[in-house]
Amino acid sequence: VRILISADMEGVTGVTFPDDVAPGSPRWSYHRTLFTGDVNAAIRGFFDAGAEEVLVNDAHADKRNLLLDQLDPRASMLIGTHKPWSMMEGIDRGYDAVAFIGYHAGAGQQGVLSHTYLPNMITGVWLNGAPCSEGYMNAALAHEFGVPVVLVTGDDCAMEDAKTYAPDAKLVAVKECVDRYTAICLPPQRTAELITAAAASSLDPLPTAPAVTGPYRYEIEFDATHPVVMTTAIPDVEQVGPRRVAFELPTMRLAIRCFRAVTALADGSMEATYG
Ligand SMILES: [Zn+2]
Repeated sequence: VRILISADMEGVTGVTFPDDVAPGSPRWSYHRTLFTGDVNAAIRGFFDAGAEEVLVNDAHADKRNLLLDQLDPRASMLIGTHKPWSMMEGIDRGYDAVAFIGYHAGAGQQGVLSHTYLPNMITGVWLNGAPCSEGYMNAALAHEFGVPVVLVTGDDCAMEDAKTYAPDAKLVAVKECVDRYTAICLPPQRTAELITAAAASSLDPLPTAPAVTGPYRYEIEFDATHPVVMTTAIPDVEQVGPRRVAFELPTMRLAIRCFRAVTALADGSMEATYG
């Protein structure tokens, strides 16, 4: 069995505050070790369960957060940004299962550091009418490739979210959300045990990816009107409300690419003080 790990940082053990995940900050430097610890705990569990190969895709910010010299030497790591499949880079390489480590709730939802792609500006995303987090859309892409999601870690809100897109996956809440920048956290010794045990039991039986078909309609709502002007520059992205845009594409491969383009253009329209 070959495993792909998509590793984000907001849902990692002990992470609660923007500074904790902001590349270059002293708190980020500290939390890189805890991030690598959560990932190593999963790697250990997967090899305990008989995995032959584990690839870790660093999926946070500029994708250079995990510490390679502390990584379990049985795994390998995808480092660096501008990847065709972004958070899901590697999904087209024939892996049998994917794990989401350090995931978080979607924009506008309760959850530690909740957001969808952009840290602010987006207030909600819907995929075919359903509330859509990063986990939700990444799972939809994995399912289109026929790959099941077997393990998700993050705060308790991210676990509630995961039940909507990966009902057969093992779930580990490493912290309990009090509010968006506050959580009751378990220490890494405890969460590592929980993550390793969950990963070790996640492959037998190996869940089957649900059969999925398009089309996929995204709706994205912003906290202001000006991102609409920018994002409707993309052909077929249309304004459907004062602060809302939508598009529909036949496959998740295409839809998630278009969503990335929408977020990149929206990000480009952000001003320092007014947002
Ligand atoms: Zn992130």
